[in-house]
Amino acid sequence: MIVIGGGAVGLCLAESLTSRGAEVTVFERGRCGSAASAGNAGWITPSLSLPVPGPGVIGEALRWLVNPSGPLWIRPTLAPPMIDWLTRFIFSCSASAFARGLAVLQRAGARAGPAYDRLATRGVQFELHEDPLLYPAFDRRELEHLWKVVGDLRRAGSRQPLERLSREEILGIEPSLGGSVIGGVIARDERRVRPELLSLGIRDALVSRGVEVLEHSPVVSLVRDRGGWRAVGGAEDRSGDAVVIAGGAESRRLLAALGVRLPIVGAKGYSRTYPSHPSGPKHPLYLEGPKVAISVFDGGLRVSGTLELGARGLALSPRRLEAITTAAQRALPRWRPASPPSDWAGMRSLSPDGLPFVGALPGVDGIHLATAHATLGITLAPLTGELLATQLLERKPDELLAAFDPARALRPYGPRRWIARTSRPCADLSRQQQQEDSR
Ligand SMILES: Cc1cc2nc3c(=O)[nH]c(=O)nc-3n(C[C@H](O)[C@H](O)[C@H](O)COP(=O)(O)OP(=O)(O)OC[C@H]3O[C@@H](n4cnc5c(N)ncnc54)[C@H](O)[C@@H]3O)c2cc1C
Repeated sequence: MIVIGGGAVGLCLAESLTSRGAEVTVFERGRCGSAASAGNAGWITPSLSLPVPGPGVIGEALRWLVNPSGPLWIRPTLAPPMIDWLTRFIFSCSASAFARGLAVLQRAGARAGPAYDRLATRGVQFELHEDPLLYPAFDRRELEHLWKVVGDLRRAGSRQPLERLSREEILGIEPSLGGSVIGGVIARDERRVRPELLSLGIRDALVSRGVEVLEHSPVVSLVRDRGGWRAVGGAEDRSGDAVVIAGGAESRRLLAALGVRLPIVGAKGYSRTYPSHPSGPKHPLYLEGPKVAISVFDGGLRVSGTLELGARGLALSPRRLEAITTAAQRALPRWRPASPPSDWAGMRSLSPDGLPFVGALPGVDGIHLATAHATLGITLAPLTGELLATQLLERKPDELLAAFDPARALRPYGPRRWIARTSRPCADLSRQQQQEDSR
């Protein structure tokens, strides 16, 4: 079996496949774990297992459109793929679509931690922390919003321990928070990993099992080969009965080479990693207003945020980086980082409904996908690996994979539903694409 992409998702899948006896080759364009899986916040977070599209998101994006340091930004463009993606995204922002997506991601989020436990049991080493996540609120509106989110999570089936905290309680737990905090929420049963060490830990475990991990080996094309597929790499080719594309935001390119256009866009984010300092927080914090995550690792503190939809390239924006630090310093007025941070940008891959694409690529036999994990790729990587490995090796489908099925991108949405009722359904994605292109 061939796995394209050595990020958290591709590596976890390869690990799961090989732990069940499958023979796997991993192709990675650069170094394993060096793309989106590197400088992120590393949270395994049931409480933030929410779809990106939701009621109010479009209004918020429009509000931030003119502010280059806001947390959410959509690249203005008239390019047809982006217009199509945005249209689908807007339909996914309805209250009912959000509730459906939230219920699915809550079920997935609840299974994420145990999947990490199993990964550790199979001998993979990584830095893991298990402190609760704090959501401080700095004004009444923010506090009410947090409480509303807790209500949404409960209605979506969450059983996670989520408690409201008074000002005194939250300051008692995390004294580094400023005096302007008025209360907040504590989410227990959360974990976090140092993401760059997670990828290295899985890669090393794979190599020690004798798995072929080809780094600095981009796959340039996929060609049919005696009932299976041949991955044509820059230096080496490999053949296999099945291929899984786990190329993160770059999955689109390989799909395009196969004549398939799935609605996936890049959503860029930034992080700054500072050396630890005694004045910093001891707990991970999520600042709801500026949407900034503060992660505490062994020897380091990372602040991260921003979702730039449709961003091109990974250039660092000094304004956005500064905005992230400013938000963290407002919440933590006593925090005095001792030295300048190391800055990073990464591209998440995002489907219009905010759910990952995991499963068989419709109409193209033997090609599977594991991508579009959006803001939850670290949370869901081991679970994705397990679910897809079980489906590939044992043909046992899981209810989550039905929700993550890439075939949903074929289903007509919005006004297209009416068009679909009056026309014959498309047999496969490439045919649908050809029809769209010829219109
Ligand atoms: C600022 C920020 C904070 C985040 N915080 C969190 C968090 O706290 N918790 C969480 O769950 N998620 C978080 N995320 C999201 C998470 O980082 C991603 O969802 C996750 O890393 C995606 O993993 P991946 O393996 O799918 O993609 P990637 O890590 O991007 O890996 C894909 C790999 O495929 C390789 N590749 C692509 N094309 C080819 C090819 N043709 N041949 C060979 N190799 C190829 C690439 O080089 C890359 O290494 C955050 C993201 C950002 C940007």
